[in-house]
Amino acid sequence: MSDSTPKPLVIITPEHEHQISPIIYCAKQNQLQIRTRSGGHDFEGRSYVSEVPFVIIDLRNLSEVKVDVQQKTAWLGAGATLGMLYYNIAIRSPRLAFAGGFSPTVGVGGHFSGGGWGVLLRKYGLAADNVIDARIVDVNGRILNRNSMGEDLFWAIRGGGGASFGVILAWKVRLVDIPERVTVFTIYRDLEHNATQLVHRWQYVAPNFEEDLFLRVVASRNTTSDGKITISAAFNSVFLGGTDRLLAVMQEKFPELGLVRDDCIEMSWIQSILYNVGFPIDSLEPLLDRFQPNVGYYKGKSDYVEEPVSRKRV
Ligand SMILES: Cc1cc2nc3c(=O)[nH]c(=O)nc-3n(C[C@H](O)[C@H](O)[C@H](O)COP(=O)(O)OP(=O)(O)OC[C@H]3O[C@@H](n4cnc5c(N)ncnc54)[C@H](O)[C@@H]3O)c2cc1C
Repeated sequence: MSDSTPKPLVIITPEHEHQISPIIYCAKQNQLQIRTRSGGHDFEGRSYVSEVPFVIIDLRNLSEVKVDVQQKTAWLGAGATLGMLYYNIAIRSPRLAFAGGFSPTVGVGGHFSGGGWGVLLRKYGLAADNVIDARIVDVNGRILNRNSMGEDLFWAIRGGGGASFGVILAWKVRLVDIPERVTVFTIYRDLEHNATQLVHRWQYVAPNFEEDLFLRVVASRNTTSDGKITISAAFNSVFLGGTDRLLAVMQEKFPELGLVRDDCIEMSWIQSILYNVGFPIDSLEPLLDRFQPNVGYYKGKSDYVEEPVSRKRV
């Protein structure tokens, strides 16, 4: 954002769902574009920038989360964050979770409508795969649910981007079963310690792990103690089970990584969420903070590779 970034005429923060239809009528009458913002994490700024005159509907006040442990479902306002969802599940059940992304400050309005992946992806799919109902205001100001919007629109808002179709008010999601203890580890290897070979090998073994094992690689540019620039690969994992079984799986499928018992930490699923974003694991309250202190700003872009990247290009 800079001084020349286009600004909205107004930012509206509705407190009730029925306040949104009048905003849509008013914007249409005055030929104003509407930008809808839930968590504000859009890398391209699509929820808060436009080249034509526009207003922002910011859904931060529609963020109630209602968890039904018996039914293993939750209804949540589109302005809720992933952290709010995870927190509300964890305080009610240590054996339920939701298959969504890593960062607690990501909004569920944008995240679910674009897909949404995280550590439970391999076993339970994307966040969008676990949406079972929704409420949306359409371009004519009507509030629709899954039944009244029809299966085509319901399909489209789970991956096609919500803003193309209306203002999503709330989602109903399916919660998934997890063990009370999971095991995490993060192993760092740089170019001087076999990183290239390990990342290359990881591409072949990781897709064939059992579904309980999620192992990602996060590459970053680092400086060694003697001032040399290197690339470091962090092999970061959450395993839905205990250390003994994890060690056996890794020994069989990926012994080259050299995982040992001391690398493994057993904790609850909600603690693994905190661990993966670098928060202390003894307090859940930070998950509720929409605005985190000391955040770094960066731009992300995703790609999907269908064939493993060659060793030369790794
Ligand atoms: C720090 C960070 C971490 C991330 N981690 C992950 C991750 O682990 N996994 C992953 O899959 N992705 C991740 N992402 C990407 C993130 O899922 C997307 O950027 C997502 O669209 C953000 O949703 P939002 O509601 O926060 O963003 P917003 O900027 O509010 O919205 C994003 C888009 O969705 C539209 N939209 C938002 N709310 C609504 C609504 N209620 N109705 C209709 N349209 C709406 C907006 O208009 C915009 O086009 C991350 C992004 C960041 C910045």
